[in-house]
Amino acid sequence: MFSQAKQILKRFYGYDSFRPGQEKIIKSFLAGEDTVAIMPTGAGKSICFQVPALLLDGCTLVISPLISLMKDQVDALINQGIPATYINSSLSSAELNRRLYDISAGKYKLIYVAPERLSADFFQTCLIKTTISMIAIDEAHCLSQWGHDFRPSYQLIYPFIRQLPKRPLIGAFTATATPEVKDDIINLLGLYHPNIQVSGFDRPNLYFNVLRGENKQKFILHYVKTHASQSGIIYAATRKEVDAIFALLSSKGYKAGHYHAGLSDEERIREQDRFLYDDIQVMVATNAFGMGIDKSNVRYVIHYNMPRNMEAYYQEAGRSGRDGEPGECTLLFSPQDTMLQKFLIDKSVENPDRKQHELSKLQTMVDYCHTPNCLRNYIISYFGETDAPTSCDNCSNCTDESELIDITVDAQKVFSCILRLNERFGITMIAEVLKGSQNKKLLQFRFDKLSTYGLFANRTVNDIKLLIQRLIATQYLMLTESEYPVVRLTSLAYTVLKGDQSVWQKVIKTKQVASDDLLFQ
Ligand code: ADP
Repeated sequence: MFSQAKQILKRFYGYDSFRPGQEKIIKSFLAGEDTVAIMPTGAGKSICFQVPALLLDGCTLVISPLISLMKDQVDALINQGIPATYINSSLSSAELNRRLYDISAGKYKLIYVAPERLSADFFQTCLIKTTISMIAIDEAHCLSQWGHDFRPSYQLIYPFIRQLPKRPLIGAFTATATPEVKDDIINLLGLYHPNIQVSGFDRPNLYFNVLRGENKQKFILHYVKTHASQSGIIYAATRKEVDAIFALLSSKGYKAGHYHAGLSDEERIREQDRFLYDDIQVMVATNAFGMGIDKSNVRYVIHYNMPRNMEAYYQEAGRSGRDGEPGECTLLFSPQDTMLQKFLIDKSVENPDRKQHELSKLQTMVDYCHTPNCLRNYIISYFGETDAPTSCDNCSNCTDESELIDITVDAQKVFSCILRLNERFGITMIAEVLKGSQNKKLLQFRFDKLSTYGLFANRTVNDIKLLIQRLIATQYLMLTESEYPVVRLTSLAYTVLKGDQSVWQKVIKTKQVASDDLLFQ
């Protein structure tokens, strides 16, 4: 059957081969297995259900929440000679009736439908007369309250499936791969031992770069100057910050735009158009910018602040290099970013479980900013791909040529300090004790009497914190999931304390850009 799938690919789409992820998903469907496919936008998921739809008897129902895209997708299918239609609230009642009639007459192979329509009795009656071989659920994370886009109408899908005379094959598609969302998809759709396929997250043309301790404004000015002929986006966490960077760039004569929810609709549309038509070189924006924007020649994305989680980061960074040409994704980390994101989560999330969930995702983002290992591997593994290579030659950690040094003794000092503190304190207190600081609380607790007090007297507290963050990011240490996270040792740290394993890391760099004189020459 797979060779037929290849023929269909060539005949209807003109492509010679499936992408590796597509092949696995299509084979899974053809073997009759329910499948959860986790793929980022652009990875080519449509083909994964359209090709099997053409091979299976009867029709395939595609449940999609994006009414605006449905028409485009169906028009494209019709152009390719594939019988398809869609049902959503945009149709007149005469048109709706005509399509329902054609559906019950078995005229279509693919029927796109908005989830709300599944509750309409007449539509169900009509479908009960039709053979539905497969149901493909697009944006399946909308089922889950853990997802970023929960939609109550998705709760209609499971009862709908149960009412069908014969249970169809089910495929769920999403770009969100967190375990909670995945479990919800499986449970809420009643999937039975589904095949889970994660693919397509790698973007080989993107260079990933994390910089810590930069003077961010100077960095931006230097970067925009040295990339003057290129189009880029600078994301910042707050409107205030967006306005400040925008003012800074404009004052130096750069063609910049700005975009955030505080601007009027007209202003936003104007700024967006200026960016799309290359009237401006760089767009400074909050995360409100980018949804549905398809500008292929964005060469760089700079994050002025660390975003709240890896999903947000990768989606925003991934707006560079859409055309397949090189793109550069730089994240400017500062510890205040963590505080800011914690504050924003605290303000916006009420449910305690959910808050905890958001905080642990934030920690994964902080770990990305501190890992000494391959950034691309970190990202791809985070999204659940199991065969990500351990190095890439195209991220700031892999291209960092600084020497690997043995930091076992330093790590042991940190670990014993944490044990002396009974694993009851956070990063700052541990760093202060190792520094030997005169902090009032520290003295009150009499931590100045500990044998580990002042072991790193000649380092700055920030450097010590950075070392601890790195040991967290490399899983020697862990932070507890609580409002005031405390640092604990993992089993890996105990093997280091016992002397069974050594810790090697590249020299920690907190600053990588040229000196001030170079910036303003
Ligand atoms: P998604 O729905 O995952 O965002 P699409 O299904 O729209 O992605 O596909 C993204 C692009 O990749 C489309 O232009 C599509 O034609 C192209 N594409 C998909 N599969 C292949 C393939 N096997 N070979 C070449 N191009 C492909």
